[in-house]
Amino acid sequence: MEPKINAYNSLLELIGNTPLIKLNKITSSFEGNFYAKFEAFNPGHSSKDRIAAYIIEEAERKGILKEGSTIIETTSGNTGFSIAMVSIIKGYECILAVSSKSSQDKIDMLRAMGAKVYVCPAHVSADDPRSYYQVAKRLHEETKGSIYINQYFNELNMEAHYNSTGPEIWEQTNGNITHLVACSGTGGTISGTSKYLKEQNPGIKIIGVDAFGSVLKKYHETREFDAEEIYPYRIEGLGKNLIPGATDFDVIDEFIKVTDEESAHTAREIAKSEGMFVGYTSGAAMQALKQLNAEGIFDKNSNVVVIFPDHGSRYMSKVYSDDWMNNQGFFDAKTEEAQKIEFV
Ligand code: PMP
Repeated sequence: MEPKINAYNSLLELIGNTPLIKLNKITSSFEGNFYAKFEAFNPGHSSKDRIAAYIIEEAERKGILKEGSTIIETTSGNTGFSIAMVSIIKGYECILAVSSKSSQDKIDMLRAMGAKVYVCPAHVSADDPRSYYQVAKRLHEETKGSIYINQYFNELNMEAHYNSTGPEIWEQTNGNITHLVACSGTGGTISGTSKYLKEQNPGIKIIGVDAFGSVLKKYHETREFDAEEIYPYRIEGLGKNLIPGATDFDVIDEFIKVTDEESAHTAREIAKSEGMFVGYTSGAAMQALKQLNAEGIFDKNSNVVVIFPDHGSRYMSKVYSDDWMNNQGFFDAKTEEAQKIEFV
């Protein structure tokens, strides 16, 4: 017989129920109350644990997945890590088809988590049989009993947040939330959370964060896909060059765009002011919050929740590397960081 021990049965029990943490310093000159939903507290260090566990468990409930079945996805980012983690724990095979643009560090990390990683050429179009989309689709068709997570077009993505992130925020704020600020990539987080919150109180304002170089904000305003909006940018996981089927644009009140440079500086500022070591898109979300504050949309009765999607440890060679920041031209000659580099 197992002794009575206070232990979790697996990491799966630690997914979700992330803390809501008051922002104290970075918002000290703003009117209102500001709280961060810090998703790095998930065991895989990002909000993507929620969708990985939810989508896999839905497939189990429907009887699609059996012991040893295969789970397929096309990302080297947070979703890939979360799927690999859940697959290991549950005993599934995890195949990730990723772009050759993915860093070796990321590929190594996914392999360390037991995933089989197919590196596909980045320069080919999405309908080329060698592209990671087509490789994933083919593997899915060829592998009996497999599931393809397809996070940008899977309604269960939004449903995962409708069933977890939304209710958590409602309960943690005792229904007093007035504004939600959240990044939009697949749109699952913001759409699912908003749908739940607006069902409780339709007056809650939902603000999506988009990147310059992405089509989401324009699409929200015009319902038209404008290819002219698209150009390369650096923040990963924010915005998109297509219209994700996993986004419900009707439950988002407005989008606000942020730059790579300001988002990077703001991520570093969150670490230095609040002690929260956050990822690049957390910097983007906080940057959006700053811009909204400058527009004067908050007052002393505002209770604003901002979602910080992941942890800073995944960005050591980017936002938290002075060399990288310098190479992007993100350090002004007069900044403290630039001086440090000069005089060390
Ligand atoms: N931040 C990061 C770091 C992400 O990886 C993602 C997901 N692409 C997001 C934010 C956006 O979340 P969602 O896909 O739910 O819109």
